[in-house]
Amino acid sequence: METKRVCVFCGNKNLSKEHIFAQWLLKELGILGNDVIMTHANFAGMPISNRKHPFSKLVNGLVCEKCNNGWMSQLEGDCQQHIINLMNLNGIKTELIFLEEHYETVAKWAFKNVILLNSATNYRQLVPTKHYISLYEGNIPNGVFIDLAFSKNNPTIEWRQTPGGLVIKDKSLPFRTDASRYTITFQIKNLLIKVVFYDSEENTFYEDEGAIRLYPQFGVYGEPKMFNDIDNFDVHGVMHEYL
Ligand SMILES: [Zn+2]
Repeated sequence: METKRVCVFCGNKNLSKEHIFAQWLLKELGILGNDVIMTHANFAGMPISNRKHPFSKLVNGLVCEKCNNGWMSQLEGDCQQHIINLMNLNGIKTELIFLEEHYETVAKWAFKNVILLNSATNYRQLVPTKHYISLYEGNIPNGVFIDLAFSKNNPTIEWRQTPGGLVIKDKSLPFRTDASRYTITFQIKNLLIKVVFYDSEENTFYEDEGAIRLYPQFGVYGEPKMFNDIDNFDVHGVMHEYL
């Protein structure tokens, strides 16, 4: 029986054969055609399995030609040079000025990569279907926080996907085990990007000291910090839920 394969964003059936990461990024990382270590991580962010995975399997069969060559290509073009500078720690001061003005564009680029990463890897689906549709309509969903930081180490590419992280809530708020949530972090060279989602009807704030907040509002929290590695950054923040 054939499963229905349609674009995760728009439902179109004419699927593209592109990688989930743009060609310019693969070239910049020098990994076109290489193998990449795929890691599963547990709640505390410690890797529980490491295995070599042919990078070619990250060819995303679930994006259509129209999305790939249209809005996604536009997003890549808008961000390419800035991401290259950030991941190589070039002209950070200038890039922070760019981010302050264009944080929403870069946040969408980060969000697109993260949700495609989740859809293309063998990790369980953490990202709700409506998040893909929301981005296609031009919006990052409510409850999503996107942070950027720099790492002392410089691997080619790394990522972590977990269904959680620490939540601190007002005593009066009920404990919910069924809350939809995820933390997905990826690293390209020295650049760390983290997308945290926590679905709540109350107020939420993701505290991530030392990181640069891209979304929902641009901001630098405390002194920008150099994290040791992706795991250090992945487990660093705390979600607050309050009335
Ligand atoms: Zn599409």
